[in-house]
Amino acid sequence: MNFWPRRQSREIELGQVKIGGQTPVSVQSMTNTDTRDIAATVAQIKRLEAVGCELVRVAVPDEKAAKSLSLIKKEIAIPLIADIHFNHRLALISVEQGVDGLRLNPGNIGSAARVREVVAACREQAIPIRIGVNGGSLEKEVVERYGYTPEALVESALGHIRLLEDENFDIIKISLKSSDVMATLTAYRLLAKRVDYPFHIGITEAGTKLRGAIKSAVGLALLLGEGLGDTLRVSLTAAPEEEIFVAFEILKSMGLRQRGIELISCPTCGRTEVELIKLAEQVEKALAHIQEPLKIAVMGCVVNGPGEARHADFGIAGGKGVGLLFRKGEILGKLPENELVKALVAEVENYVAVH
Ligand code: SF4
Repeated sequence: MNFWPRRQSREIELGQVKIGGQTPVSVQSMTNTDTRDIAATVAQIKRLEAVGCELVRVAVPDEKAAKSLSLIKKEIAIPLIADIHFNHRLALISVEQGVDGLRLNPGNIGSAARVREVVAACREQAIPIRIGVNGGSLEKEVVERYGYTPEALVESALGHIRLLEDENFDIIKISLKSSDVMATLTAYRLLAKRVDYPFHIGITEAGTKLRGAIKSAVGLALLLGEGLGDTLRVSLTAAPEEEIFVAFEILKSMGLRQRGIELISCPTCGRTEVELIKLAEQVEKALAHIQEPLKIAVMGCVVNGPGEARHADFGIAGGKGVGLLFRKGEILGKLPENELVKALVAEVENYVAVH
């Protein structure tokens, strides 16, 4: 069943990744290395790829950073997006360097002639441009007219869109970001009535790991629940890899994507006789490399434990210093507490190897 009917956006291609239409919502992040440090940036992108990142954006603050892009691109497997502010020359160099996408607001690069130049270069290579409107950097005229409101975000975006459409350019995606969840939701709802370009969604400056994950989950679930959003970034004050983890957990919880384990672990209570919190954390860490969608139960006692573990692909249920190991409802054995994680991981890895 399609729980969350998607808005009918038009489909664009960014490198090998399709965005929009009915394609799965893709997950992206942004590096926080100095882009001029090619080795560090490539290493970070490879870590992002390993955890499932599908598109990556890098900041391009100067010419040296722009000229690093082809070397970075050569080493990575996912599409590379150049994040440009104000400087159209950096956009032109980035396109020459072979990037797959640009994040650039055409109204901020100076003149119609400059927009024309950038659009011509992007058109030739079929490179999409993301217009990224941010509540913190709205144009003065827009704020004077609309204040800091969702309408202001939408009007700002429409202004940038018009500049590209005037050049007959339509490989566009749009983001409207605010650190306020309700303002973000209202803005996307309004823009959805005006254009059919795909949406890049996110709650900007969401905060540190746990707070940011919660705020992002609430905001993104509200948007995705209304079918709004074709690609997303969870923005955290944390390592970019954490953003990918949170993004997939949100999408998995909504049944929109599948990747890696779904951990079912009990909250523990007075009946718990094993060190379950430690055990669950060990299991999560030990199975972080698994990409196949598998349900893993880590339960604290024999009351609910075996029941839940039976419904999972694999599970452990603790007892007094011992625990049961399950595979799809079948008890595989009774093991001492300190052998449970190792045995569970071995079972999962064997399963994955032959499937
Ligand atoms: Fe308590 Fe057992 Fe439920 Fe865990 S599974 S919360 S230990 S009753």
